[in-house]
Amino acid sequence: MYIFTRLNRINEVKVKLFLRSILLFAVLINVVQAQNKAEKYVLVIHGGAGTIERGRMTAEQEQAYRDKLKEALQVGYDVIKQHGSALDAVEKTVRVLEDSPLFNAGKGAVFTHDGKNELDAAVMDGKTLSAGAVAGVTTLRNPISAARAVMEKSEHVLLAREGAEAFAKEVGLAIVDPSYFYTKERWDGLQRARQQDAKKQVNHATERLGGGIQDYKFGTVGCVALDDQGNLAAGTSTGGMTNKKFGRIGDAPIIGAGTYANNESVAVSCTGWGEFYIRNVVAYDIAALMEYKNLSVKEAAETSLAKVAKGGGNGGLIALDKEGNMAMPFNTSGMYRGAVTEEGVVEVEIYKD
Ligand code: ASP
Repeated sequence: MYIFTRLNRINEVKVKLFLRSILLFAVLINVVQAQNKAEKYVLVIHGGAGTIERGRMTAEQEQAYRDKLKEALQVGYDVIKQHGSALDAVEKTVRVLEDSPLFNAGKGAVFTHDGKNELDAAVMDGKTLSAGAVAGVTTLRNPISAARAVMEKSEHVLLAREGAEAFAKEVGLAIVDPSYFYTKERWDGLQRARQQDAKKQVNHATERLGGGIQDYKFGTVGCVALDDQGNLAAGTSTGGMTNKKFGRIGDAPIIGAGTYANNESVAVSCTGWGEFYIRNVVAYDIAALMEYKNLSVKEAAETSLAKVAKGGGNGGLIALDKEGNMAMPFNTSGMYRGAVTEEGVVEVEIYKD
């Protein structure tokens, strides 16, 4: 009798030990899986790539950029969190950046050679592949909203200059005096660029390729978003490049070059020397590399940016795929950028390292 009870106890202890090790094993597997699981991002932004170096910025300036990027991310995240559309999130986020004088879009846009602010913007809906854009506008407070109106309220994709402005007025968008866009920093930037130009510091090959000096400050803004319906959207807004001439239009409003979104693959917004992004059809190239060659968003974004660099161009981009994987490569010393995860964790970066 005693022996039987003893044997049962031994078995009971063994079974308990066995169950405990299984439990421990399951816990360990979960921990490893959680560590390996990539974050799901729902919104990514950029505030332009260019010569952005630690030594050139005061602590206050850096803080101002970080705060504004965080504010923009939060505005977009709130839309997604409340089950809003990726398109709404993109428009609202870009408007925050357009309204800030810190970035080269809306207020704070760079000046053309003739001392004007000529703005370009585009938006694309990854669900329907519909798109809208405006180019060379001088009186529209928020070009991103005008781009969206072109997409939703006209039968066209790209409207330019006075025509775009008349349309925007007709649909009731905010019109401002061109002086609204003025900032002293950008005006001084134009004077420096003009002086360099006059001193013929632009080498002809460079000029022929890009129509500008490589070091001219960029600062375009862009946003890509993924909503809880699985829809992607992309938007880009810019003043273009300092000292641009002859009604030059960059890549931002060219669908497939600076802006693209397709639910089948990815949403992309680019920043940098626009001529190279147009020639390499960068935003669409990334989508094509993913769709036809099965590249990951990171591989595709880097491959496409390498083409820009190979041609002599520079800049960066943000890309977000339908699973919430993102990439934000750039080949300049910095790019204002940020992202927010599904859980609302906000990340903001400025410099390369
Ligand atoms: N890509 C813009 C353009 O070429 C400039 C920028 O990104 O800052 O117009």
